[in-house]
Amino acid sequence: MPLTANDPTRKSWLDVPANSDFPIQNIPFGVFLTRDDVITIGTRIGDTAIDLGAMHQLGYFKGIDLTDDLFLQDSLNDFIADGRKTWRLVRNRISDIFLHTSPGLRDDQEHRKKVLFSMEEIEMQLPVDVGDYTDFYASKEHATNVGSLFRDPENALLPNWLRIPIGYHGRSSSIVPSGTPVRRPIGQTKPGEDGIPGFGPSKLLDFELEMAFITTATNDLGKRVPIEEAEENIFGLVLFNDWSARDIQAWEYVPLGPFLGKNFASTISPWIVTLDALEPFRTAGPVQDPEPLPYLQQSDAKNFDIHLQAIIQPENGAENIVANSNFKYMYWSMSQQLAHHTVNGCNVRSGDMMGSGTISGPTKDSYGSMLELTWRGQNPLQLSDGSERKFINDDDTVILRGFCKNEDVRIGFGDCSGKVLPAN
Ligand code: CA
Repeated sequence: MPLTANDPTRKSWLDVPANSDFPIQNIPFGVFLTRDDVITIGTRIGDTAIDLGAMHQLGYFKGIDLTDDLFLQDSLNDFIADGRKTWRLVRNRISDIFLHTSPGLRDDQEHRKKVLFSMEEIEMQLPVDVGDYTDFYASKEHATNVGSLFRDPENALLPNWLRIPIGYHGRSSSIVPSGTPVRRPIGQTKPGEDGIPGFGPSKLLDFELEMAFITTATNDLGKRVPIEEAEENIFGLVLFNDWSARDIQAWEYVPLGPFLGKNFASTISPWIVTLDALEPFRTAGPVQDPEPLPYLQQSDAKNFDIHLQAIIQPENGAENIVANSNFKYMYWSMSQQLAHHTVNGCNVRSGDMMGSGTISGPTKDSYGSMLELTWRGQNPLQLSDGSERKFINDDDTVILRGFCKNEDVRIGFGDCSGKVLPAN
């Protein structure tokens, strides 16, 4: 099916500010509360939120096989479960309706009142009910940096890392949408001389610059997803801040891996940008040496060129860009991650979320965490107000941004933002 919604020459009758993340070529999906306190599935063009539940009731999706209440839900799980053919039909239809030459909704003031909202009138919610969340560790630079800092610079990368997309099962209950404050966690830390563990608010609170992909129901228990079929099971991506308490993490992570140092909060951007919208930005990933086992071998370009930024904003202060990275630095692609995740027969369901792991690039300004940017606090960052940061302070807001850009179009994700509140 042609992705007519991606046509870079298309313009909308809705206003789209210059450098907007949401031109008519994006058409992301999200869930929001309207000014009338109704929850609905929607999309966004420019700074206008669009109520897809209302549009469906008014007949704008006639001819597409959709259940009546598909968009009148508090999550996208059922829509995502309908599969890629439906996603494409709906996204193309939305594009057609908002094309500047299309009358219909454009010229119907009554319908426009029911369908269109300014961003100030709505409140974004979590876009999916995340059943399971998995976090990978797919950036070679990040794994090398963390291996050097936590273990041994001589053997920073363990032998399995180049063979397996390493991951662990995270906690979905604490995934929150952008704008939700994050409480500094309390926990145990490494013992001092007296052998008794420390206990109290984390002193080394960090962000992790990640993205996450959201799947449809991919496989029954006991079956697997072949790598060639992986992408058709990926609905789209969000920005993902996998907040981490490095002092809690360092004491607890051997022998079984991350636990309370990670599961107190993860923030996502609320609009899911479809894999289809990112198609013009497809690119090859890093060369893989040694060659992966056959079930992980991929033929075409499976990475995406997405600029990523991490920003620290002190309370009442200016934004400070502290990292510039790119999704294309990921060593293991999303296809490889999904093929690996299911190779043992583990079933993946609609709305599941898979984090990339922190995405660090090759240069020091492209590291995706404070742990790496300050080299565990040895080289503090200077902010524009003259203050220093080794890690994240109370009342700091951390913002992740991401966008793709070529001569024709810019597709972005909006903000993934969270303010740190003092420990309880
Ligand atoms: Ca992580």
